[in-house]
Amino acid sequence: MLDSPLLPQAQGFIDGRWRGADDATTFPVTNPADGTVLAELPAMGPMETVRAITAAHRALAASPDLATRRRWLEAIDQALRDHQEELGRILTLEHGKPHAEAQGEVLYAAGFFAYAARHLDALAPRTLDERPRDCAWTVHARPAGAVALVTPWNFPIGMIAKKLSSALAAGCPSVIKPSSKTPLTMVALFTLLERALDLPPGFVNLVTGPAGPIGDTLLADYRIRVLSFTGSTSVGRDLIRGSAPGVKKLTLELGGNAPFVVFADSDLDRAADQLIANKFRGGGQTCVCANRILVEEPAADAFCQKVVERAGALRVGDGMVPGTDLGPLIDRAGYDKVRRHLNDAVDRGAELLLGGDPGPLSGDHGAFFAPTVVRGVTPEMACWREETFGPLVPVATFNGDDEAVVLANDTDFGLASYIFTGDEGRAGRIIPRLEFAHVGWNTGSGPTPEAPFGGMKQSGFGREGGLEGLFEFVEMQTVPRGDPT
Ligand code: NAP
Repeated sequence: MLDSPLLPQAQGFIDGRWRGADDATTFPVTNPADGTVLAELPAMGPMETVRAITAAHRALAASPDLATRRRWLEAIDQALRDHQEELGRILTLEHGKPHAEAQGEVLYAAGFFAYAARHLDALAPRTLDERPRDCAWTVHARPAGAVALVTPWNFPIGMIAKKLSSALAAGCPSVIKPSSKTPLTMVALFTLLERALDLPPGFVNLVTGPAGPIGDTLLADYRIRVLSFTGSTSVGRDLIRGSAPGVKKLTLELGGNAPFVVFADSDLDRAADQLIANKFRGGGQTCVCANRILVEEPAADAFCQKVVERAGALRVGDGMVPGTDLGPLIDRAGYDKVRRHLNDAVDRGAELLLGGDPGPLSGDHGAFFAPTVVRGVTPEMACWREETFGPLVPVATFNGDDEAVVLANDTDFGLASYIFTGDEGRAGRIIPRLEFAHVGWNTGSGPTPEAPFGGMKQSGFGREGGLEGLFEFVEMQTVPRGDPT
């Protein structure tokens, strides 16, 4: 078992107590850098999940007031900041991203709780200025009920922070299911929740184990009123189908296929710097990573050269080794997908400019992939159509505004996109035509706690972050009050 003061136990947390699986079965959590087993966690199933739902549903009666919720949110923000380094270490060991980057994710996560605490009054009752139908009207943001929060492995603390901050702000008890690839950061978070807060038993519950039985139980139970999911579009589709009988409210943060559009009139050095920061974060395994790099033809040679220079200087290795820029991919399946995309692109005529092989690395468990750049990418290639989720930079070229827009929108996804141009007029004309909910203009920056983030098209629906995110777990109740006589 990984030795950490934040992991005194490797268990789930149900109704205020640490628990194993009923049948004592477990599953291993491994370090993707070297394949060592970090811990064994309970492989829970329907029975444990039902108990967690029952506890959460019962805790709804404890319905805390706004002042209590604000205090909880502030305490979590502080606890995350206080334990940034150790949480980051656990995160790096199970995910692979560099330790400095992992600590940055912890601070990012803390920011969601801080933001929710600062803006909690947005959920206070509101009285209408008007008196329609001769009544005084009040609008209340009521907790929607017990909620389920299901998170992916690529941001083990960031993704739960987005959901849990809003659920607590709304006053909703939750049942949380982390990815089986990175559940230890979640266990550590629960250790902090237990220590730092006076949450009523059952207000937060953690179930770990195989997704199918747990997910089906969450979907089937009428007491779960909202299911908030971040993950792949294919699982998102299953959840839409499965939520129909109970008419459950869904928030779906699904896959992306981000275009990174560089016009010849842009500052190419800045565009290249931003691309490197955007593309290689998390080993290229983020939903907002640039997936297709579109460069205006006259700038293509110069831009490719700048990207190759920068990408070639990145140091690949174990995320716990100081100086590492790029850790391993999450597992061998992740590696195989990037390899398939690269082979497919080269087979179809793309030119390999950099990478393709990480070279010998100590402790290699088969998941390291070197920064790789290919040029001459076309829309029939797998790396254009699918999310690569790895350190592959596929470059295509275009001529003029219209072709840039058509190529950028040539995907079923609509999460993040980026456009680099020094021409304000051009940006003003192009940005409204981009079918993406996030458009970085001269920046490769992704989401922030202060702004709403989510998807269009098959990237999902609902928003996390910003004032909009605070409303995902409430039901609006209107109370028109007439004169008593
Ligand atoms: P995934 O395979 O869809 O899994 C996501 C979570 O759902 C995991 O906890 C998984 O548990 C669980 N799950 C799997 N099948 C389920 C089912 N039938 N019912 C209920 N839960 C189920 O996705 P991933 O590989 O972890 O994450 C990568 C994907 O997430 C990428 O497509 C990425 O773009 C997307 N993503 C989107 C955003 C966004 O903001 N839009 C942010 C981050 C990531 P197990 O691990 O136990 O299988």
